[in-house]
Amino acid sequence: MSIPTTMKAIQIEKTGGPEVLELGDVAAPTPSPDKVIVKVEWAGVNYIDTYKRAGVYTLPLPLVLGEECSGTIAALPTSEAVLKSEQYALRGFQIGDRVACNASGAFAQYVAAPWDKCWKLPAHVQTKIGALSVLQGLTALTMIRETYPVQKGEYVLVHAAAGGVGLLLCQACSYLGAHVIGTVSTPLKAELAKQNGAEHVIISTEQNVVKEVKKLTDGQGCHVILDGVGKDTWEDDFEMIRRKGTIITYGNASGVVPPFAPLKLSPKNVKVARPSLTNYIVTAEESAEYFGWLFELIDKGVLKFHVHEEYPFTADGVRKAQIDITSRGTTGKLVIKVV
Ligand code: NDP
Repeated sequence: MSIPTTMKAIQIEKTGGPEVLELGDVAAPTPSPDKVIVKVEWAGVNYIDTYKRAGVYTLPLPLVLGEECSGTIAALPTSEAVLKSEQYALRGFQIGDRVACNASGAFAQYVAAPWDKCWKLPAHVQTKIGALSVLQGLTALTMIRETYPVQKGEYVLVHAAAGGVGLLLCQACSYLGAHVIGTVSTPLKAELAKQNGAEHVIISTEQNVVKEVKKLTDGQGCHVILDGVGKDTWEDDFEMIRRKGTIITYGNASGVVPPFAPLKLSPKNVKVARPSLTNYIVTAEESAEYFGWLFELIDKGVLKFHVHEEYPFTADGVRKAQIDITSRGTTGKLVIKVV
């Protein structure tokens, strides 16, 4: 498959509001030792894109945004060592294969994706599902297997339960037999969270979340709290966690959690974790474990994807997607149709 020398991509030349996002011409990737070149069809929208655009995470500029996509393989890695490795053989990539990838620079017509962060899509899985599933799906799965292995019968509190990661956490934790309690801001979101596995849903704008969680857990609190909201929910998490429980703070939707003193943990012997997906899928073996589990759960119908909206591959389309995801008005996943 031939790759052009230039391509369209959504990039920023400076950090700032959504207006800094531009669709421009940039150099297309060329074959490299350890990358698969993917012709992008769909790209998933994530909070991290907004953090990078706003400068919450500092990176060299200019920068093409986007962290996940699906499409077809246009070029294979060139390193003999990679091509002969056991893990590469496990993936069995060929030119033209449909793949899902975790790759920086995915808001583009082509992306160079690390070969071990790509996974071949099973024949019956639509290409679009690949772009919907990678970042939020792997985040949910790594947290409930490694950060805190969720067990049957445990109480799990999922904040923003109707969001992208939130819905997948509800689905996966209820599949594991946990009692899922979700928090959301509207009755409509509550309905969606219930349809996706939350046993109880608390509407944070109408109810006292701490009081309701205590009522639902016999005053004991939850075994684990999965919190992607951050600053606004942090203090209450310590009221809602049970003795020896684990608070997983994995995102900053309402702002970054402030620094805290370790002594804060001792009244209930609480553990706090701040995981990042990237550090759970460093090796090819680790990434294969989680991609494998992700597509097994998709295959079983455990993980299902609720699409909030499809956006066009234009500056205005991506700007709107970023405004929407941070507006608190979305449910499930936002996706960009690149071709
Ligand atoms: P969501 O779809 O969950 O959107 C964020 C949700 O947070 C909102 O819909 C809203 O739900 C809730 N929220 C509460 N307070 C605010 C606020 N002040 N401003 C905006 N939203 C608020 O987003 P994602 O699923 O894409 O991401 C969820 C979190 O996961 C993000 O913080 C993201 O950074 C993090 N993340 C972390 C990863 C990691 O590796 N650690 C990887 C991927 C994502 P409601 O209105 O119902 O309260």
